[in-house]
Parts: sequence; C-alpha cells; structure tokens
Amino acid sequence: MKQIKVSLNFLLPLFLLIFLFSSCTHKKSNKPNIILFFVDDMGWQDTSVPFYKDKTTLNRLYKTPSMEKLAAEGMKFTQAYSSSVCSPTRISLMTGMNAARHRVTNWTLHENKSSDQASDTLILPDWNVNGMSSIPDVEKTVYATPLAQILHDNGYFTIHCGKAHLGAINTPGADPLNLGFNINIAGHAAGAPGSYYGEKYFGNKENEYNQPWGVPGLEEYYGKDIYLSEALTLEAIKALDSSIVLNKPFFLYMAHYAVHTPIQEDPRFFSNYLSDSLPVIEAKYASMVESMDKSLGDLMNYLDEKGIVDNTIILFMSDNGGLSAVARGGQPHTHNLPLSSGKGSAHEGGIREPMIVKWPNIVKEGSVCNEYLIIEDFFPTILELAEISDLKSVQHIDGISFVPFLKETSFSSKNRPLFWHFPNNWGPTGPGIGASSTIRKGDWKLIYYHSNQSFELFNVESDISESINLQFQEPDKLIVMAKELSDYLRDVDAQMPVMKISGSQVPYPDEILILK
Ligand code: CA
Repeated sequence: MKQIKVSLNFLLPLFLLIFLFSSCTHKKSNKPNIILFFVDDMGWQDTSVPFYKDKTTLNRLYKTPSMEKLAAEGMKFTQAYSSSVCSPTRISLMTGMNAARHRVTNWTLHENKSSDQASDTLILPDWNVNGMSSIPDVEKTVYATPLAQILHDNGYFTIHCGKAHLGAINTPGADPLNLGFNINIAGHAAGAPGSYYGEKYFGNKENEYNQPWGVPGLEEYYGKDIYLSEALTLEAIKALDSSIVLNKPFFLYMAHYAVHTPIQEDPRFFSNYLSDSLPVIEAKYASMVESMDKSLGDLMNYLDEKGIVDNTIILFMSDNGGLSAVARGGQPHTHNLPLSSGKGSAHEGGIREPMIVKWPNIVKEGSVCNEYLIIEDFFPTILELAEISDLKSVQHIDGISFVPFLKETSFSSKNRPLFWHFPNNWGPTGPGIGASSTIRKGDWKLIYYHSNQSFELFNVESDISESINLQFQEPDKLIVMAKELSDYLRDVDAQMPVMKISGSQVPYPDEILILK
C-alpha cells in the first residue's frame, strides 16, 4: 500500500504538468483572430486621439472613447497612408499591389464606365474601371488572388461586413463572396449608402432613392429606428458567433460605410455636438464619427465577453483623407488641419490616415510609431499575423509587412520610397487635387501634376502643412526624386494621360526636367 501511495503522489503532479503543457501548446498553435476595422473617408483629425504632436482643435471636437482605449492598449501610427479616394485604396488592401500597378486608379461603380470627370487639358487613360477580379480575363479588371481568399484557404472564417466597393456592378468583384469571404453582410459595388436610416430601408425604399445606392441584405432592419453602423455591428457580431461555433479563427473585415456622404446624423449622438459655433452639417458629421466609434467599442466588448481578447488582433485604418473640398461646413480644405486639403488630394490631408494596431502581448501598450507605411502593406502584414508563410498569389505584391514596426525592431522606413499614381480627374478642385504622380522618401515628398507638368516639393517633416514649395531652393532633391518616381512609373508601366493640345502622352517627370 505504501508503495502505491508514493507512486500516486509522484504521478499526480506529473499528470498535471503534462495536462498544462499540452493545453499551453494547444493554445500556442491557435492562429490569432484578426479584425480589420476600416472606416470610410475618415480624416487624420476626425478623432479625440491625437495623431499630431499635441491635441488639436479638431481632436477636442470629436469624441472617440473606443479609439482612445484602443490606442492606450496598442500602437498608434502617425504616418500611415492610403490612396486619396476609395477604390484604389481598397484594391491595394485586397491585392497588396500599388495603384500604379493594379490600375484601379479612381473609384468604381458602373460596368465599363469611368467615374472620371472630363478634363479640359487631358485625355485620361483607360484604367481598370471594373475593379478587381479573382477570375482571369474579366475585361478592365486587375486579376489577383484576394487577401480574404488566402486567409480562407489557410483555415480562417472570413467575414465581410459593410462597404465593399471592389468591383463594378455586374462584375464578379462586386460580390465579396467571389473574393474569398465566407460571409458578406451588406457589401456590393456601390461606395456609399442610399441612407443611414433603417426607417428609410438604408436607401431601398421605393420612390425615395435612386439605385444603385441602396445597401443590400439588411431587410431585417427595414422600417426600424436603427442607424446603419449599429445594424452592421449587430450583424458582424452574429457572424463572429458562428465562427466561434465552428471553432475557427476569424478574419472580420469591418468596413463601415460611415463616415462617407450622405452626411446624416446619428440621433444617439447628435445633441453632443449642437452648438452655436459649429455648423449643423459638422455636428451631423461628428455624430457619425462617434457612432462609428461605438461600433469599435461594441466589438471590443464582445471580445471581452467571449474571453478572446488576448487572441485577437485589431487593426484600425481609414481608406482616404477626410472630405473637405465639398459638402462640409466652414472653409473648404481645412477639415484635416494641420494637414492641407482632403479626400481626392495628393496633399497629406487626402492620404494620411488615423491608424492603430492592438496585438495583445506583442505590441507595447500606448506606443507610437512614427515610421511611414502605405495601404498595400496591410496585405503581407495580415498574412504574417495569420502565420501564413508560403504565400501564393497570381499578382506581384508591392506591400511590405509592418510587423517589424509592431515588434519594435530596428527596421526603418527612411530609405523606402512610397508611390501614389492618380492619372484621373476626381472632379472638385483644391490644393493637391488633380491628375498626379507622387513619391515620398525620407522627409521629402514630390508631387508631379500631369495637366501642366508642374511640381511641388515639400519637406513634410518640417512643413507638415505643405505650405512651402521648395522645388527651386532644392534643385538637386527635385532631380533625384523625379528620377526615382519616373523609374518606378516606367517599371510598373503606369498609365499616363495624353495631352489634348499635342496628342502626346504626358512626359514622365524626369523628362520634363531634361526639357527645361
Ligand atoms: Ca473613401
């Protein structure tokens, strides 16, 4: 008897150790859940989180407590870039390609029809007006292996919720289910909602709104007193519940229609902003921002309730700068101050975004990253976060993973060039708005305008408002950057407009300097 007792005393702790070890290793092999919380048209300053040195007047206006919590628990990026309008950004995100390469350079909607406004001076290129496709040989599309498809093929339950805007009407890319998503909630070809209100059937009420802006798939909320961002959040949570039942890691692409036009107040938050000093349209806009922030908070609370906070990475990003040229209160081009201009512009107001990443136990809480990165970097980053190493895609990937920034290794962006290419005519006018190609490298940024072949050279580190064009003071810098930009455009065979006056292609920027 004595001998058996000794054995049990010895074996019990051993069993316990084996059990603990096996449960630890089991936990370690679990891939993380990933939420990409993607806001539409949200500017760099549309938040109470300061992304500039100190809190600005705009930071004091907006109320985004959930973003504040996310920033306190994660890493804030002060120089995260997108393209200046919706579709180019979204295609770069889903393909890992730069816009110059994928050629979906303006926003998409109708099949085989460009959204470009006519230009007085330029014949605009025949860009990929039908968006992206995971099927080859679809005309006017970029053929690519979508991000969600790769995640799906590697065991993820992939959820699309909100605005898709990845392919034109009647093309395969219009439906997120054709791009690797298991579930599509409310996504289709259009890049804006007909209405944010359940009472208005989100734009589907007969005789009240023109198609194609009606948000699809939310019939359950028709006629109800509910705001679109809330309905999307409730539906996203239902989809997350099913992924938990399936015991699969999830990728939730939470792509809000907010805060894109139409600017329609969320009545739950509108009164927070009513004051004599703020135009009513700005109070409405601010309520949309706070409503979006509530969605973020609800998702974070859900992770808490389900006990999956520690195994879920959250990335927060916007698809272009805040709208400022039209449809806003106050002076145009001031809604992203201290940044110049807004949506549609090559200036910082059009492309610099509020970005935060929370990666529990890896990213230092409350940290700040001042390195720059661009939207196509999300593609390889998310795949790395999902522990997918044998990446197979039909397209060339331009993006570079920013995981080293998250882990705070010594990696630096300083010598890396970033490129934007917009050979299009968005419509409104203003600083930095117009057909252009742009390079950012180190502290410097060069913009080349196609219509009159002019340059703007800025030191964005010392002049964040892009108020001093240094092209004549820094001729050597101008030449070096124009050469690197031109080499890139030639390398990716970027589409250039044709000048109406001469019938010849707009020269590459270095050719202009040689001519001068
Ligand atoms: Ca947008």
